[in-house]
Formats: sequence, structure tokens, C-alpha cells
Amino acid sequence: MWLPSDLRAQLRAAFGDAEVVVLHSAPRAIGWVAGGVEAIARAVLDVCEDRTLVVPTFTVGRMDPSTWTEPPVPEASWEAIRAELPIYDPEWSPPHAMGRIAELVWRARGAVRSSHPVESVAAIGPRAAEIVRPHPIEDPMGPRSPWARLHALDARVVMLGVGLERCSLLHHAERMAEVPYVEAAAYGVPVVIDGERRWIEAESGNNCSEGFPRLEPSLRKAGLVTDATVGDARAMTLSARALVDHARAAIAADAAALLCERRGCVACGEARRVLGACSGKG
Ligand SMILES: [Zn+2]
Repeated sequence: MWLPSDLRAQLRAAFGDAEVVVLHSAPRAIGWVAGGVEAIARAVLDVCEDRTLVVPTFTVGRMDPSTWTEPPVPEASWEAIRAELPIYDPEWSPPHAMGRIAELVWRARGAVRSSHPVESVAAIGPRAAEIVRPHPIEDPMGPRSPWARLHALDARVVMLGVGLERCSLLHHAERMAEVPYVEAAAYGVPVVIDGERRWIEAESGNNCSEGFPRLEPSLRKAGLVTDATVGDARAMTLSARALVDHARAAIAADAAALLCERRGCVACGEARRVLGACSGKG
């Protein structure tokens, strides 16, 4: 059993002197905490009182029905679905599978959320506004996105109870490395422009991140991972700048470095096909 005061001490140790923290988390891994997930989120916010805390608040449920896999929907219904998918509202649309800490941080008083209809982030703290804005629809994770600013600010990336497969900054590294499979993928999304509902194409990149943990051994070997413990959970922390630079070097050596090796992964199979490196594994 953990008390909020235990968590605060552990989180302080994990966050160190970081001015900006990007948190990916799964509170279940922390174990039993007096006060539950509310107490965990409160502890995170307390420890970030003088910092800027950033969480992903993606809303992938409004992506084009042609990309749906869980479950797939028949092509005959795509048009009808496109016509009725909800428009993203940064002040209201709930994040999809981002973890309950992210949900509570996003809704905390003073938090601001970016405008991207699918790949938004929320932030709270002194630098929140400059991090989340702008977030161009055509550049969800590239050079003009919040992720580029997190790299520039050298935020501390904290993976709390989750592995690198949840590390969105590695998608930013893919974009910055200009891997050819980024341009090959795009998705449609409903937006309102000048009061009119429109269906537009946004750049997607490879939406699979299951291959990201392949980078962990070399990151550790380079001394770029700091381990901490929060409750029962393992917390890995990394410098955003070092992480992105390391990932870009890995991609420069092997363009498929961040792709997963799961049999039947459609996204990574397609990415390998684009790379011309498909060897039948994907
Ligand atoms: Zn994959």
C-alpha cells in the first residue's frame, strides 16, 4: 500500500530538476494507492507545481474508418461513418486509451490542450501554452508540432509503468529522420473550416509503436536511461533531446530500426514494403 506522500517523494526523485516533464503512464502498474488514481494524479500535479507537465491526449477514434482494425468495418459503411464522426473539441473530446493520469491532468484547472484533431497533447504549467500551440493539422508530430518544442526544451520523458512502445517522441524522431514510410501513410479526419464540415487528409506516419522498445538496449548501453520506482511501477526517464538524437542515429543506420517484428502487423509490413526491405518477416 502506498500513500500519496510516498508517491510524491518517488516522483520528485524520478523527475529530478526537470523543468518540463512529458509523462506516459499506466497507473495500474503503481499498485494500491490510498485515494486511488485521483491521489496518483494529484501527486503528479503537486510534484509538477513549478514545472510544466505534458501528457498525450490522442483521440484516434475519429480517424478514417478505412484504417480501423479493432474491429474493421465494411467498406460499404465508410461514407456514412465519415459523415457522422464527431468533430474534435479540445475542451471536451475525451482522449482514447492514454491512461487515467493523462485524463485527469488534461481536465485539471489551468491545463491547455492542442488543436490537433487526432494527435493532441495537453500541458499545464508555466510553458504550457508555448508548447501546445501551434499544432498544425498537417504536422501532428513533425518540426512544427509540440513534440519539436519538447525536443528543443529538452524535456524529461518519463515512462511510468509503460515501456517505450508508448513513447510518442519516437514518432517525432521518425518524422525528423524523414523515413520514407511517413509520407506513405495519411488518414482522413473530420474538421470544421469556416463553419463547414470537411473531410481532410492529415499526415500520419507509421501508427505502430510496438517496435520502439527495440531501441531500449542501445539507449541503456549509451547511458541514456535513468531508472526510478514509483509505487510498484518502474519509471524510465530519458532526456528528450538525447532520445530523439539517438533514435535518429539508429534510423540513419537502419531505416527499419523502429518498426516492430510482430507477424501480421499491417502498419510495419507496409512501412517495410515502402522501404523496399520486406524480407517476409513483417
Ligand atoms: Zn508494427
